[in-house]
Amino acid sequence: MPTPFPVGPINTHLVLGEPITLVDTGPLTEDAWAALRAGLSRHGLGVGDVERVLLTHGHQDHFGLAARIEREGRAQFFGGRLDREHFRGRRNRRLLLDALARAGFGALERLTMVAMTAAVDHFADPLPAWDELSGGEVLPGDGWSVVVRSVPGHTPGSLTFEVPEAGVLFTGDTVLRDITPNAIVDEDPERPGEAFRSVSRYFASLDSIEAGESALLTSHGGRIVDFAAHRARLEGRYVFRVGQIERALSGRPKSVSELCRRIFPTVRPMDLFLAYSEVLGFLMYLEDLGRAERIPGRAVDRWTRSEKGAELPSTLYGFP
Ligand SMILES: [Zn+2]
Repeated sequence: MPTPFPVGPINTHLVLGEPITLVDTGPLTEDAWAALRAGLSRHGLGVGDVERVLLTHGHQDHFGLAARIEREGRAQFFGGRLDREHFRGRRNRRLLLDALARAGFGALERLTMVAMTAAVDHFADPLPAWDELSGGEVLPGDGWSVVVRSVPGHTPGSLTFEVPEAGVLFTGDTVLRDITPNAIVDEDPERPGEAFRSVSRYFASLDSIEAGESALLTSHGGRIVDFAAHRARLEGRYVFRVGQIERALSGRPKSVSELCRRIFPTVRPMDLFLAYSEVLGFLMYLEDLGRAERIPGRAVDRWTRSEKGAELPSTLYGFP
C-alpha cells in the first residue's frame, strides 16, 4: 500500500483463515484506503469481512486506517500494550521539546522537529478500542494460531506475530530486509518522563527472535528466508554506526546536535528527528556499556567517551 513517508510503500498482510485477519492497515490516506479495498476485493472480500486486525506497532503507516476499518466493520483489534499512547494519538511534546533543548538544537530546529512529528500524526485516526497484548499470548484460529512476541526497540510496544502453521513470522518494522530500522527515542512508557533506551532494547529484541523454519514477512520490502545471514549483515552495519559515533565522541565533549551534524551532515530538516533519535539511542547504548558518559550542563548536555570504557561485546546483540 502507498504511504506518504520516505520509507515508501508498506506491506499489509491478509490471513485467509477463520477469523479473516489483517496484519497492519496502512496509513490514513485515500490512496491507502483504495489499495486496501482493492486488495480485499481480489479475494472476494470487503472491509466489513475483516474479523481481526493485528497491529505490529503504533506507527501511522501501520495503524492509520484502523479506526476507519473499525467504523465500517466488525473487526477486533489487537496491539502492543506499551504503544498505547501511540494508538491513542498522544505525544508528550513538552518532554520532546525539553529533550531537544538539552540536546543543543536551536529554536527553529526544535520547532521543525515537533512540527514534523505533528504532521505525521495526521496519517492516523486515534484507535477507540483494542485488546492490549504484552507478548507471550497465542491467539487461536480455526486450524491455525498466532504466536505473539514482544520486541521493544523500534517502538516500546512493537510485536511480532508468527503463524507456525503457515511458516510465516510478521516482523513489522523490527526486521526489514534492505534498511536498518531506526530504534526511535521517545518517552519510556514504563518510566514516564524518561527517554526510552531504544537501541539497547532493540538489540536485546533482535537477539530474542527465533525464526526457526518460518520466513520473515517484513513491513517494507521483501521477505527474509535466512534470518541468521540477515542478522550477520545487520550487525556489520550497526558495528559501523557504533564506530562512527565513538570516533565523533573523541576530543572535547559534544552535544547531541553537534554529533548529529558530524554524523549526518546532509540530513534534510524533515529527517532531523530520525537523525537525533539514532544518535541519542546509540549514545545511551554506549552509556549502558560504560563507554560513553553524559555531562549534564546548565542548559545543554554534552557527551564524552567514558574512562570506565568496558570492551565492546563480541556481539552487539544479547545485551542484557
Ligand atoms: Zn514503524
